[in-house]
Amino acid sequence: MVGSGPGDGFGGYRARLVETLRQKGVRDLAVLHAVAHVPRHLFVPPSVRHNAYEDSALPIGSGQTISQPFIQAKYLETVGLTGKERVLEVGTGSGYQTALISLLADTVYTIERVPALSESARRVLESAGYRNINYIVGDGTLGWKPGAPYDAILVSAASPEIPQPLVSQLAPGGRMIVPVGDRDVQALVVVRLGPNGIETSTIGDARFVPLIGAHGWHGA
Ligand code: SAM
Repeated sequence: MVGSGPGDGFGGYRARLVETLRQKGVRDLAVLHAVAHVPRHLFVPPSVRHNAYEDSALPIGSGQTISQPFIQAKYLETVGLTGKERVLEVGTGSGYQTALISLLADTVYTIERVPALSESARRVLESAGYRNINYIVGDGTLGWKPGAPYDAILVSAASPEIPQPLVSQLAPGGRMIVPVGDRDVQALVVVRLGPNGIETSTIGDARFVPLIGAHGWHGA
C-alpha cells in the first residue's frame, strides 16, 4: 500500500525518524511505512522546517502544535487500522496526522475549531494528493454525526473527561483514544465498544494542548 516515500530529498530524514520510532517500540509496519511516506516538512512553518523530522512537537501557529511523531505513531498503532476504516480525527492542526490516517484507513473525517488551521491543512493535503479526507470546522467534542459511526476516533487535544458524544458515535468494535486529565498532563485513555459495552484502559501519559468545547475545556 504505502511506497517508500516521495523523492523530495527528505527521504533520509524520514528513514531516521522511522528508526527512532522503532527504537522507542513502535512495531506496526503499516504505521512505520506511513511515517516513511508523509512529508512532515510540508506541514510545519518555514521557521521550524529544519526540525521537521525530529521526534518532537513543534509550533504551527494560532497557539497550537503539531504533536510528537512518537505519540502519533502510538495512537495509530493502538487503534490498529487495516485500510477499511472510517475514522474521525478531532484536532486537524497541521494536517500531518490526517495524512498518516489517510494512508491507513478508507475514509477520514477531520474536525478543527480554528478555521485558519483547517484551511491551511486542507491546502497542504490537497496539493500533496490526499483525497479520502472530509474537512470540518467546528467543535469536535460533539463529534460529527453525518459521518458516524466511526471504527476509530483519534482525539489529539486534552480533555478533562471522555467526551460522551464521541463515545456514542463509535461503531461496534470501534476504538477511541483521548488524552484525559488536567491542562498539564494527561493519561492516554483507550475506549473500546466491545460486545459487553464500553471498556476503557490507559496506555501512558502525554501533554497535549487543551480540547476546547462543549464537552472539553471551556474557553482558551
Ligand atoms: N494532530 C495534529 C497534527 O498532526 O498537527 C495536531 C493537533 S494539535 C495538538 C490539537 C488541535 O486541536 C489544535 O489544532 C486545536 O485547535 C484543536 N482543537 C482544540 N479543541 C478542539 C475542538 N473542540 N474541536 C476541534 N479541534 C479542536
